[in-house]
Amino acid sequence: MAQSAKEVELREREAAQRRRAALDQIRILGDPVLREKAVPVTAFDAELGREAERMVAVMRDAPGVGLAATQLGVMHRLIVYELEEDDPRALVNPEIISRSSATEVADEGCLSVPGGRVPVERAIEITVRANDVTGRALEFSSSDFEARVIQHEVDHLDGVLILDRTSRPARAEALRAIRDGATEGGGI
Ligand SMILES: [Zn+2]
Repeated sequence: MAQSAKEVELREREAAQRRRAALDQIRILGDPVLREKAVPVTAFDAELGREAERMVAVMRDAPGVGLAATQLGVMHRLIVYELEEDDPRALVNPEIISRSSATEVADEGCLSVPGGRVPVERAIEITVRANDVTGRALEFSSSDFEARVIQHEVDHLDGVLILDRTSRPARAEALRAIRDGATEGGGI
C-alpha cells in the first residue's frame, strides 16, 4: 500500500530527530578523547554486549558504516561496523596483524571530522585478530571496503584521525571548511 505524504513526512522527521540525537553523542574533532589511546577490554560481560548494541544504534541513526567506542567517549578497544543491512559486526580488541603492501587511495569521511571527505591511503587487504563480544577469538582476512573501514576504526582506537593520513592540501581544505562552520562529518 502506498504511503501517504503525511506518513512519509512523519517518518522523515523521526529519522532526522534520531540523527540529531545520535550526532549529539558523537565526539567531534577538537575533543581530546579522540586523540587518546583506548584500553583493551578485559571483561566480556553483558555490559559489553549492551555497549556494542548502543554503538550499533548510534551508528545506524547517524548514519555511518562504522563507529569506534572512543567516538562516544568510551575508552574501550571496541568497534562496530555494518556494510550490509542487518549485519552489524562488533570487534573487541581488534588488531591488524598483517597488511598487504598493495594500497589504494579513496575518499573517506568520518562522523567525528566535519569538513568533508578526504583522500586516505589504506592497505587493500588485511588480516585481523579480535574477539567477539562474548570473548570468542576471531581471525580473518578482509579486503577492499571492509578492510578500509576496519583500518579507519582501529585508527580511532589509537587516537588517529583521517586528517593525519591525508594529503597536506586536503587537510588544509577540511580545516578551512570546519573554520567556516561545517559541523557534521559523515561516512565511516
Ligand atoms: Zn571515523
